[in-house]
Amino acid sequence: MANEKLVREVEAFMLERVIPTEQEHHHQLQTAANRWTYTPIMRELRAEAKAKGLWLFPMPVELGGRGLSLMDYAPICEIMNWCNHGPEIFNCYTGTISNGTAMNAHASTELKERYMKPLLAGEIRSCISITERNVPSSDPTDLKFDIRRDGDDYVLNGVKSWATGGAMDECRFILVLGATDLAAPRHARHSMVLVPREAKGLSLGRIETVMGYDDAPFGHCDLIFDNVRVPAANLIGKEGEGFLMMQSTLGVGRIQLGMGAIGAAERAMMELCSWVEKRIIGGRPLVDRQVVTDAIARSRIEIDACRAFIVQTARRMQEQGMKAVRGEIAQLKVLAPDMALRVLDRAMQFHGGAGLSYDTPLPELWAHMRTVRIGEGADEVHRETIAKVELRRQAEWRAATGRA
Ligand SMILES: Cc1cc2nc3c(=O)[nH]c(=O)nc-3n(C[C@H](O)[C@H](O)[C@H](O)COP(=O)(O)OP(=O)(O)OC[C@H]3O[C@@H](n4cnc5c(N)ncnc54)[C@H](O)[C@@H]3O)c2cc1C
Repeated sequence: MANEKLVREVEAFMLERVIPTEQEHHHQLQTAANRWTYTPIMRELRAEAKAKGLWLFPMPVELGGRGLSLMDYAPICEIMNWCNHGPEIFNCYTGTISNGTAMNAHASTELKERYMKPLLAGEIRSCISITERNVPSSDPTDLKFDIRRDGDDYVLNGVKSWATGGAMDECRFILVLGATDLAAPRHARHSMVLVPREAKGLSLGRIETVMGYDDAPFGHCDLIFDNVRVPAANLIGKEGEGFLMMQSTLGVGRIQLGMGAIGAAERAMMELCSWVEKRIIGGRPLVDRQVVTDAIARSRIEIDACRAFIVQTARRMQEQGMKAVRGEIAQLKVLAPDMALRVLDRAMQFHGGAGLSYDTPLPELWAHMRTVRIGEGADEVHRETIAKVELRRQAEWRAATGRA
């Protein structure tokens, strides 16, 4: 019940403060001298959300969060994602939550004080650098980026790409995953090191666009490391455990992502249903056509089925741990963006030209959802996991029932 009250507060904040200021946010970005910093309206909303305690929902209370369980966090993830910059308003961007979680569990006291606390307080931003331009990064065990121990330091060399938020003025540190021992077994080759944004030898490379969007104020950039030297104490966790550590923070992120897709789809439904009742074509509202009501019905079925699956997975994950739901996590990662893309596409179609413009949030939500099919691990990789889990399940069943 306490959580229901919080959910309603987040909903009210989205409806009264975030959605009505979307156009202002876009206008401020379009006229900004510097696109790589929070817009004034975002700053205002972040301060308001924090003052109301609508902040860092899944992080522990002693770190300034609300200490929500996965099941309690899930409905909030949905609502925050009614627009793309929603989670950032509540300091719940997935990268902030996963970097904060990894540091809380594995960083030194000094790193926590200097970097993690200001991150969670919303005073600074961070990013995660895993992907390398010249290495297929779908399988991070292949990463080659060089992290070499030299006395009391680590020295980093290489180019990282697609670092979301790396170009922001507020970004003060990067968690970098790189190879400390390429001769070790695949899952023990990599380590994670914290690199301050101002480190000597670290420079900003190109900033990507994603289907024409630069995703300001966050952006996705190359980071060039040329003999960047950091103290050995900047290691997060143990040497060779970077990959496993990264995997262990993925669970909450995947539920957040799945429920985020539900949120994007629900926003599409809000936009679609109000539009088709108002849009008069040939003397009658668009909603009078069966093709429209059919699209609404299909979308409702798909959203509700997907939400039920994700909530069921979140419940099992909370009760039995991430390993028990490895297959389901992979399923929701494929299922949820795919569903949201279909629902958004229908809403865009019935809006005509408006559905492809800044008049609605639809194309921006669609573009973001499309990136999720690659950005959070390619669909094919997740399907491979789903098939492996299924083949094992079938083999175990055959063995248990004595079938050939
Ligand atoms: C918007 C956006 C934001 C991002 N943010 C970050 C970030 O903050 N930090 C970061 O480190 N990275 C980030 N990334 C990078 C992202 O994680 C990688 O793009 C992703 O892991 C895929 O790696 P790749 O681009 O090297 O593709 P590759 O590994 O080269 O894969 C290319 C394609 O090959 C196919 N494929 C791959 N493996 C298999 C397989 N096993 N079976 C069948 N087919 C396969 C898939 O179709 C895949 O799309 C971001 C990407 C995007 C688009």
